[in-house]
Amino acid sequence: VLDAEFFRRWMLATAAVVDREAARLTELDSAIGDADHGANLQRGFTAVRAALEAEPPQTPGAVLVLAGRQLISKVGGASGPLYGTLLRGTGKALGDDAEVTDAALRAALDEGVGAVAKLGGAAPGDKTMLDALVPAVAALGDGDYGAARAAAEKGAEDTVPLQARKGRASYLGERSIGHRDPGATSSALLVGALAETAE
Ligand code: ADP
Ligand code: MG
Ligand code: MG
Repeated sequence: VLDAEFFRRWMLATAAVVDREAARLTELDSAIGDADHGANLQRGFTAVRAALEAEPPQTPGAVLVLAGRQLISKVGGASGPLYGTLLRGTGKALGDDAEVTDAALRAALDEGVGAVAKLGGAAPGDKTMLDALVPAVAALGDGDYGAARAAAEKGAEDTVPLQARKGRASYLGERSIGHRDPGATSSALLVGALAETAE
């Protein structure tokens, strides 16, 4: 069941994989950015973990809203407000039900991803987080979390030949081509953590 405990485990699994992959994310960001993406997310999800322990929220929506607020307030980079908006927007769309359905989560994620697109002004193909998130939500159907993970991973890999049109990497113009986008890569980790939690 998709209850507050499920969402808490999803956020903790994300924090764990961000810890494991932080060096790789920063390495990707050193090629087309400012070499801080791993550290940014690590700082953010460490705060998420602490906040969830300090005051465990009672509903799925409240877990994601709390996590989103932490990311917005603790991460200075572009990714903090963007990830924060994703989680807060998804959480708000879930409302205050104690348990949510797979279909409700899919609809809520769609809202959250839409809020990211609105905030950052990016669309799929711009070499951002959205290149992993948009296909993941499309593949999710009614609860196929494994398909969402595969779509996110493919989306992240498919950013390699793209030229960045948003964010810091866009300053490089054509020199951004040939590198995997850090934010799309971490977004695939977030979706992978969701699939792991649902297993
Ligand atoms: P910063 O660029 O401020 O150092 P990070 O390195 O933490 O922030 O995050 C960079 C990632 O943020 C990029 O790889 C990209 O996926 C994502 N990103 C940047 N700008 C946007 C945007 N406008 N819309 C969506 N995602 C974006
Ligand atoms: Mg950076
Ligand atoms: Mg930065």
